[in-house]
Amino acid sequence: MKPSLILINPWIYDFAAYDLWSKPLGLLYLAAFLRNCGFQIYLIDCLDAHHPLMIGDPSIKRPKRRLYGTGKYWRKEIPKPPPLKDIPRPYSIYGISRRVFEEELRSIQRPAAILVTSLMTYWYPGAIEVIALAKKNHPGVPVILGGIYARLCNDLATRNSGADSVSTLTDPASLLRVLEDHDVHAPGPLLDSGPPPYPAFDLLGKIEYVCLLTSTGCPFRCPYCVSHFLNPQMSRRDPAEVLDEILYWHRNFGVRDFAFYDDALLISSDTHLAILLEGIERLRLDLRFHTPNALHVREVTADVATLMRRSGFRTIRLGLETSDFSLHRNFGDKVAEGDFERAVNNLLRTGFTRDQIGVYILIGLPGQSVDSVMATVDFVDRVSATPYLSEYSPIPHTPLWEKAEGYSRYDLSEPLFHNNTLLPCWGEAQLAELPRLKKRVLEIKEKYR
Ligand code: SF4
Repeated sequence: MKPSLILINPWIYDFAAYDLWSKPLGLLYLAAFLRNCGFQIYLIDCLDAHHPLMIGDPSIKRPKRRLYGTGKYWRKEIPKPPPLKDIPRPYSIYGISRRVFEEELRSIQRPAAILVTSLMTYWYPGAIEVIALAKKNHPGVPVILGGIYARLCNDLATRNSGADSVSTLTDPASLLRVLEDHDVHAPGPLLDSGPPPYPAFDLLGKIEYVCLLTSTGCPFRCPYCVSHFLNPQMSRRDPAEVLDEILYWHRNFGVRDFAFYDDALLISSDTHLAILLEGIERLRLDLRFHTPNALHVREVTADVATLMRRSGFRTIRLGLETSDFSLHRNFGDKVAEGDFERAVNNLLRTGFTRDQIGVYILIGLPGQSVDSVMATVDFVDRVSATPYLSEYSPIPHTPLWEKAEGYSRYDLSEPLFHNNTLLPCWGEAQLAELPRLKKRVLEIKEKYR
């Protein structure tokens, strides 16, 4: 019998959470790799909004799902962890119930190891809870924590997570060595047959959409962003291989919605994305594409906008951050005056509507004024796009980290205070203006709905 591994995507603990094409892509890549190494893989996705055991329970309200596979998660309000006790907002666990999670765990015969991923630093309580329950239900089985929290807060995770190992490795092949340290050995060399090594979305209960990564890394160095720490080198896949992946999911699983996870999707598009989109356009498959990660506005040329329109893009998000162009020098110098208007005009001219063109505006940066955010919101409205406030979360290992620590109302050595809902780097005066900012954004959205 093949040795088995359980891979777990933990719950989210937060004030708010929404599935905007959010899937644990790293974990799904790992699952595919380990499956090809001959392991039997079981995936437990705590964020599964369609879990049959949850749907079968009439006492639980089903989460509303929305367009293109996005939507709400199961949610249960819980007491706030002590550091957050004075925050006047409800706090919840998002995902399947603990009962269902434990039933899933127990339904799998003793695995060789359990691998747990992690994402936002301030969601670590979900990982800790999962690890504790994994150990309770499978005593003696090694539990390994990886993912972004494990990389960004490695010391803390090593001390507090309860995992037997905390891995900062990114290369799936190196994980085999971690498993060997726990006496878990891959059954054989990489298999050439079997499913292609695409992230194992087929292990999810229902595939509403697939997340695509055509490249990793980003050539910019925005001081608030952790992309460079997580992916120091840029690398790109062959567009033909990405097209094969899209066709694989569409033809075998009927998937029509695809979300790009790239940090720099449009960079050098004539040798990369344009080739992929031309291939998609030729096939006329009625697919829909979404870019929840911001696109670089400078790269949205008339040609790129036309290709995006023709190949089926439905949701566009642009990264503007601020309309104060003197500040852009500090933000990586990726937007110059006139770039944004040009990008939006190119998109509008090809037929995108303003509600399809969302623009991320950063809010809550250390030293940022409310007036500059309001000016940016109005600027986006004038240019005929839709503003989205993107709350700044201080992230360890970013260039802005020390400044953030200096401005923060909280001690950022506790990751719960990295939560963007708290806007930790804004003072009371700025926070008092938050409802006014949100109201203005809402008015603009309502006006064009
Ligand atoms: S352009 Fe985007 S991904 Fe690249 S460093 Fe800046 S914020 Fe990060």
